[in-house]
Amino acid sequence: MSLPLAVDYANTLSASRGRTSDHLDGWLAAHGVPPEAREPRFEPLRDAIRDLITAAAEQAPFPPQALATVNAASAVVPQWLELTGEGAVVAHTAPKASEAERLLTDVARSAIELLSDDQHAALCACQAPGCVQFFVRTHHRQEFCSAACGNRARAARHYQRRKEQ
Ligand SMILES: [Zn+2]
Repeated sequence: MSLPLAVDYANTLSASRGRTSDHLDGWLAAHGVPPEAREPRFEPLRDAIRDLITAAAEQAPFPPQALATVNAASAVVPQWLELTGEGAVVAHTAPKASEAERLLTDVARSAIELLSDDQHAALCACQAPGCVQFFVRTHHRQEFCSAACGNRARAARHYQRRKEQ
C-alpha cells in the first residue's frame, strides 16, 4: 500500500538499532528536487508534520507552532481553479514557482488533508522498540509500520517474557 505523501515525507527519518538515519535528500531527489535545490524550509516542515501526526496518533491537540509551519508551507505556491465557458475546470499553479516550492506546497497540503479528514483516526506511530516511523492503519489491530517491525517487537516481547519467568 502506498502512503499519503505527507506520511511518506515524515518517514524520511528512520531509526534502526538505536541510530537514526535521514533519507530526506534521496526522497527530495526522487521527487524532482536535487540536493543543490534543497531549501532550508524542508526540514522544519518535516519536523512539523511529525509533530502533528504524533499529536493525531495520541489524540492530543495540535502544537500551534507545527500548525503555523504547515500552513505557511501550504501558502508558498498559489493555486486557483478556473471555470471555462464549456463548464470545464482548469487548475492553475503560479508559473514562477520552483520545483522545490511546488513540492513544499504539495507536501504541506497532503498533511492538511490527511490531518483534517477521517483518515486522521487511522494515523499511527509504530509501536516497535526504537522505530520512529508512522503509518496509516489498514486493519484495526495493526500496531507496526512493517512486517519486519512486527517480528522484531514480538521477538522482544518473547525475550522479555522468558526473562521474567
Ligand atoms: Zn516500525
